[in-house]
Order: sequence, then C-alpha cells, then structure tokens
Amino acid sequence: MSVGPAMMERMSPTDVRSEADPTHLGELDDEQREAVLAPRGPVCVLAGAGTGKTRTITRRIAHLVTAGHVAASQVLAVTFTQRAAGEMRSRLRALDDGSGTGAVQAMTFHAAARRQLQYFWPRVVGDTSWQLLDSKFSVVAQAASRAGLQVSTDDVRDLAGEIEWAKASLISPEGYAAAVAKAGRDIPLDAEKVAGVYAGYERLKARADGVALLDFDDLLLHTAAAIENDPAVAQEFRDRYRCFVVDEYQDVTPLQQRVLNAWLGERDDLTVVGDANQTIYSFTGATPQFLLNFSRRYPDAAVVRLERDYRSTPQVVSLANQVIAAARGRVAGSKLHLVGQRDPGPKPTFSEHTDEVAEAAAVAKKIARLIESGTPPSEIAVLYRINAQSEVYEEALTEAGIAFQVRGGEGFFSRQEIRQSLVALQRAAERGTDASGAELPELVRQLLEPLGLTAEPPTGTRARERWEALTALADLVNDEVAQRPSLDLRALLAELRHRADARHPPVVQGVTLASLHAAKGLEWDAVFLVGLADGTLPISHALAHGPDSEPVEEERRLLYVGITRARVHLALSWALSRNPGGRQTRRPSRFLNGIAPQSQSDTPNRPRKPRGPAPRCRVCNNILTTPPAIMLRRCESCPSDIDEQLLADLKDWRLRTSKDMNVPAYVVFTDNTLIAIAETLPTDDAALVAIPGIGARKLEQFGADVLALVKSRQTS
Ligand code: ATP
Ligand code: MG
Repeated sequence: MSVGPAMMERMSPTDVRSEADPTHLGELDDEQREAVLAPRGPVCVLAGAGTGKTRTITRRIAHLVTAGHVAASQVLAVTFTQRAAGEMRSRLRALDDGSGTGAVQAMTFHAAARRQLQYFWPRVVGDTSWQLLDSKFSVVAQAASRAGLQVSTDDVRDLAGEIEWAKASLISPEGYAAAVAKAGRDIPLDAEKVAGVYAGYERLKARADGVALLDFDDLLLHTAAAIENDPAVAQEFRDRYRCFVVDEYQDVTPLQQRVLNAWLGERDDLTVVGDANQTIYSFTGATPQFLLNFSRRYPDAAVVRLERDYRSTPQVVSLANQVIAAARGRVAGSKLHLVGQRDPGPKPTFSEHTDEVAEAAAVAKKIARLIESGTPPSEIAVLYRINAQSEVYEEALTEAGIAFQVRGGEGFFSRQEIRQSLVALQRAAERGTDASGAELPELVRQLLEPLGLTAEPPTGTRARERWEALTALADLVNDEVAQRPSLDLRALLAELRHRADARHPPVVQGVTLASLHAAKGLEWDAVFLVGLADGTLPISHALAHGPDSEPVEEERRLLYVGITRARVHLALSWALSRNPGGRQTRRPSRFLNGIAPQSQSDTPNRPRKPRGPAPRCRVCNNILTTPPAIMLRRCESCPSDIDEQLLADLKDWRLRTSKDMNVPAYVVFTDNTLIAIAETLPTDDAALVAIPGIGARKLEQFGADVLALVKSRQTS
C-alpha cells in the first residue's frame, strides 16, 4: 500500500512501532507520561478532545505489561462501541514488541459480558439455556398489544428505546413513571402505559418455553448478578482479570457501572479516561457523574489532566474553547482549556445563506475546491444535527459529481418512510390521481399525511425523525415545482426515481455525511458544520426544556464535539429559511452569539416563526388532522356556516379564470379552498394566506379578485 504524505503525518511512528522504545515513554508529554507511569491502582485521566487519550491509555497498558506489573491476559480494556474497541486493539497490537501487549482483551462492555455469561451460565442457572434477543421489536410489539394498546411501528421503536434507557439506568417498570417525569423524556404514550409495556415485555421474555430470552441489557444485568450472588463465580472471575481500563468513561451507564463494580469487587486497579464535555449520549442513559465523582470515590486516585490538543490547529482549538467556555452546570465545571499543538492553519469560516439549498450548494463548491487542491474526499466530512438534513447535501454533492457516503443512517432515499412515500405516489399515479403546478405540493402532502406528515411534529423520537424526513421530501417537491411549474405527478415520480438512482452508494471512499452523534471520536482534515440555525442546533425540543436546561447544554456539547473533529479546515454555516424563496425567519445558533464575526451575527435577530398550536375545528374545537379538515378549518363532519351565494360566485370566477389561463379549474383553487373562503370570509391579505392552500404565489395572482368578491357579497 502506498502511504500518502497526509497519512504519514498522521501515523505518528510511535503509534505504530515501538522496538526502539521498550519503556513506551517516548513521544509522550509530561502529563501523559505521568498517567502512563502511575502505579497500579485508581487513575483518572480527564482529557479534552484530541489530547492523546487513546494514546495514553494504550501506552499505560503496554508499559504495565512490559514492565512485568501485570500479565497481558489479566488486563481487560473496555469501551462502548465496536469501532472504539477495534481502534484500541489495533493500537495495542502496534505496541506489542514481544511482551504480549497485543493479547490484551479490548472489547465493548456488551461483548465482555456476553463472553463471561456464556462461560458462567451453566453454573449459575443450570439446565435452562439462553438465547440472545437481537432485536426487541417483536416482543415489545407483543407486549403492547397484550396491554391493549394500538401502536404504530414508530411507537414500538420508541417503546423499545424507553425500555433500553430504563434498563441502562437501572430503573424498574415500577420506578419508570417517576424517573421519566424527572428526566423530562419525550415519550410516545403516557408514562404508566410505557411502564406497563416494559413490565409485559420482561414477563414475555421470561416465559419463552425452555429458553430464557436475554436482550443486550440482560447480558450486563445477568453478568453483574452472577458475580454479585455467587462467591465462587466472583472468585474465579477476579482471579482471571486484575487490571481494568475504560476509555470514553463519560459514556458509562449506571448498568455498565454496576458490571464494572462487580468485576472490581473490593479492588481498585482501574484506569478511566474521559471528557465530560463530550457527553452527548445522555438520552441513552450515559452519564458523566461516575467520571466526575471518580476522585471522591477513590480519594487516593492519581488524577491527570491533559490539555494539549495534538489533533487540531490552534485556530480550531480556539473556537472549541470559546464555544465550551459558555457552558453551564456541573459538567461544565470540568471543562479544560485546550492548547493547540499543531502548526497554525486557516481560520474557521462562518457563512450565512438565504436557504438550505443555497447553503448546500456553497458547501459542495468549497468541497470541490478542497479536493482540487489535494485534500482526499475521505478526509472531508459534512456534519449535521439530524439525519433528515442529509437530503440537501446528498443532492448538492450528486450534482457536483462528488462521491459521498452517509454514515450512521442510510441515505435519504433508502429511508423506510421515503421508500413508502414513493410507493404511495406511484399508487396514486396509477389510480389516475394527478395534479400539476401549485396543486402538486398540496396533493403530495395529502398523500404523505397517512405516512406521518401531520401538520404539527408528533411526539416520540422515531415518529419525529419520520416527520422530519417526510417534511424534507415535501420541501423537495416544493422546490421542483417552483423550478418547473408544469410538473405533474408522473413527471415528479420520474424525477424522484432519477435522484434516488443517481445516489447509489458509491464504491470509492467519498466525502462523509454524518450526524454529529455519529461523528463522535472520528477526525477529518476538513469539517463542515452545517445547519447551525437556532431550533436545529440547539434543536427545538431541547429548547422546549428552557434556555438554560441540561438538554440545551447537551446541544452545546454536540457543537463542541463537531468542532473538535476538524484537524485543519473548519467551516460553519446556516440558512435563514428552509426553502428557496421561503420567509427568512431563522437566526444563527445561539451558541455562536459573540463568536461568529459581527457581519453575520449582526443580521437582525428576527424571532423564529412560532409553529403555533395544533389547528383546531372552528365549530367543535377538536384538533384537526386530515388535510381537507385543516383546509376547511373545521371537521369535515361539523356543520358548515358557508355563504352559498359567495361559493357560487367564487366558482364562476374560477371557471372564467381557469379558461383565461388555459389551465384546469383546480389549478386556480381546489373546491376545499373555495369552501374555506366562503366560510371564513377573509377581508384582507393576512386572512387570505391564513387559509391553507393559499400561499404567496396565489395571493399575488388571485388575492385582489377574491377579496373583491368577498367584499361585494358583504356590501350587497
Ligand atoms: P478523542 O477525544 O477524539 O477520543 P483522543 O484524546 O483519544 O481523542 P488520540 O486519538 O489518542 O486522542 O490522539 C489524537 C492524535 O494526537 C493522534 O494522532 C495521536 O497520535 C496524536 N498524539 C497524541 N499524543 C501525542 C504526543 N505526545 N505527541 C505527538 N502526537 C501525539
Ligand atoms: Mg480516543
């Protein structure tokens, strides 16, 4: 394999070869060396991003093994993701100079527990065998239906997520309702019902005939219990492993901590490494409290702080410091001021755009320039807050002919709801349903509504993800129609298929598109942080907890994680509206206040357009959900207070207008829109656009005519 200059620079020789360094102390700074040389016993390394945590932890293991302080087979190194475990294993192998360091077990908590349980299970349980439940979905669905609940697929996924959070947090079904209220979680059903499904799920798993079904959290629970309850098992286990190391310790859950406690028993030979300011998985039950309380728990622990950042340029490091400096709360108390060690590089850039499409096009252009000037596409990433944001970037990169892959989520057109949407549009086209011009987006919204495109975003994580993706699709249709007003349903379908095909997963290593969560622990030469508008980062449902709430602080940490992924080039951007031509109601992320250069942050802080309450029926006040009802602003079954004469006048006018324009009548206005006008009797532009189906374009084309008709009826 040929190694390019960029790679040579990164693969620092001491990370891959160590014959010349039998003590494993070369190329370590003073603090790193202190952590490596600390005697066996509790060690806590509080380290910022890119400060050499993984380097320090693997060197410490290598040093302990080489110096004969512990046998390689007695060390257990754990972390949280397969990727991180693999990274540790390969670094340990690279440090193996015949001492056996490469034989150290480095794995995830789950893999370690699974292996131990396989070994101890016959002894602690006896004849009943166990089977791993790879996916909870069907058992949770069964539990929900036994509880008499009618739930959607999304609800089942969210219920499974709640069960995982509760188990990871050591919360029983009985304690769930109280805990969820305290944590302010976004749940699809009321807490008592979720708790009922959780209890039912546990019963169903236990009752599977002859075989115990264990989910991933049960692996951990049973491992802890086997060691806690059986002194012989505990003895055997503790003879086997004597020295424990945990990377990314800020991500530990109470359940994993319980396993760690069981492993340790009364011993304290534990090295932990973490950065509380990179805690971004609280919603899964991860908590930095164990990291922050480490020296309280082990008063004689060696505590080492690493502040030199070897990953990023001083320019990138300085921005990271600025962003995290504003953090509040306990986690923030642990923040470290990073000091960049690399040569200076370009300043991070900030750009404001009118809309997301323009933002994506500008990003694609900058990426093309970076590639031209020699940055490999695999060294470039575009990072966003939620997966549905990938759509415009997939589109812009495809258009620019730049290969990419979407990480930690499928590409937009592979998403289940988008595939379902295309099927629904196809069926409608086959039934002969059609529309064109301004009516097409309306028709599409109507067809997507049963798939989850409600007027208001729903509750529940999965349902909201689905809603965001469907909204992105509806926006895409708006754009298409704006560009090609003659588009009909068939032509639209052909266009969408063409786009989906054009984005087949590339075979080569391309630019990475990833959510900030999926980017954790990774690094690139160039990073684009996009969509940094208030309401997206921090995301609106975090803001709903209050501007100083912990969920908003977690959003700030997400930005910090994003910034610290960049080695050299960093570009931050946002758009003032979602769609081209849309009202520019957004403002830059509050986390950039006073940080983004004045010229940008100076743009008037227009208030974000409130989503407003869910639409309600004018007659009975029930919440409206179907498009015709929303259009009429009353339930379809509620009595109409229509001005029949006005409706007849409007229909006459529509016929004349459509003939003049040489278009079908519904292109002017649908029947439902005319009915809504005849019922609500709008007297000005504001009242007209408040009627769903009448936007800026129709207001301009027909507003004066319609208002005149309404007025002539009222004065007659
Ligand atoms: P993250 O927070 O993202 O997990 P980390 O703290 O684990 O980062 P590492 O991946 O261990 O950081 O190190 C970041 C980079 O800095 C690596 O390329 C590593 O080789 C390099 N590095 C670490 N320490 C030193 C040092 N003392 N001298 C030179 N390079 C170093
Ligand atoms: Mg690391």
